[in-house]
Amino acid sequence: MEAFVYASHAMRVRFERGCRSRVAEEAELLGLKNAMVLSTPEQEGQASEISDALGKRSAGVLAVARMHTPTDVTERAVDELAKVGADGTVGFGGGSTIGLGKAIAIRTGIPQIAIPTTYAGSEMTPILGQTKNGVKSTLRDARVVPACVLYDVECTLTLPPAASANSGLNAIAHAVEGLYSRDRNPISKLQCVDAVRALIEALPVVAKRPGDIEARQKAQYGAFLCGLALGHSGMALHHKLCHVLGGAFDLPHAETHAVVLPYAAGFNAEAEGLEPIRELFGEAGIGAGLWDFARLLEAPASLAEIGMPESGVEKAADLAVASPYWNPRPFGREDMAGLIGAAFRGARPEN
Ligand code: NAD
Repeated sequence: MEAFVYASHAMRVRFERGCRSRVAEEAELLGLKNAMVLSTPEQEGQASEISDALGKRSAGVLAVARMHTPTDVTERAVDELAKVGADGTVGFGGGSTIGLGKAIAIRTGIPQIAIPTTYAGSEMTPILGQTKNGVKSTLRDARVVPACVLYDVECTLTLPPAASANSGLNAIAHAVEGLYSRDRNPISKLQCVDAVRALIEALPVVAKRPGDIEARQKAQYGAFLCGLALGHSGMALHHKLCHVLGGAFDLPHAETHAVVLPYAAGFNAEAEGLEPIRELFGEAGIGAGLWDFARLLEAPASLAEIGMPESGVEKAADLAVASPYWNPRPFGREDMAGLIGAAFRGARPEN
């Protein structure tokens, strides 16, 4: 056996249909007496139901979460929480809402319960991305990890099919990069392989029948494992490219992951660690296999489709090589111009 390091974060995960109704029980276990429910403005109605379920332990709902966790929003939220003496948060939503809970936690030290409603996986990671004056920076800190995560499939049923497909591909990207990560270990490998299998099986069913509980639960289970992979392993080319493209052209998060994944994974197709995914896609190859899978889900096919200008290809290639980072396959600027150009056009990768 090769030597490895395995570290884990202290957290409690409940994976059970309907478990959002047990949020007061979980708050009690954490000793929370006055927890603020967080959400985006769009999910305020469902967040109010969580507040009702918390009963006397609820401090109300703060429906201010926004994409990319702007620090001014966080600072106003911290003030609101102080005003009502909140001693914890319950983040009900996707990565944006969970990001707000994390940003509050790192400033105040108060514990969080997360109730994820997408497949982004932020609830399982010690990672926090924040935006100040339009610039996004990312930190890793164990203090942002939620103390408790409630995976209730019913909270995902309202996620529209298109958003489910993009969010699911975003999750698969964590597992693919987790497999060849330098920090990979036998446990993370088990998680990543099971995660990809679950999502590959579940997402086409979710796309056709968004109310299919079994498929939704399998997708949520896959997303949970993908989140773990993201939390434990350093990411490489795919995540770096999505960060660069999202930041430079203000592209939507999950959609960017959905478009870039086949190209980045195809570029790294021969990486050590990716054997189980090579097997999964067989002769088509990883890049083309993932591209075909994304078409089956009717995910956006190109960077052009999600709003990147053609003139952005060269700029993105410059940015992709501006600061060096580890990737299993070395690359230069021309490789990046080719890869981003193909993703811009939506061409099917050759491998
Ligand atoms: P999101 O949280 O931004 O949600 C997108 C939209 O979908 C919002 O309007 C939201 O209210 C709505 N929505 C969410 N769940 C819904 C549901 N079940 N039904 C109906 N509408 C629903 O989307 P996301 O992709 O989950 O998160 C993206 C953000 O999370 C980005 O800022 C990204 O950087 C961050 N993220 C962070 C990590 C991490 O580890 N730190 C991991 C993944 C993503």
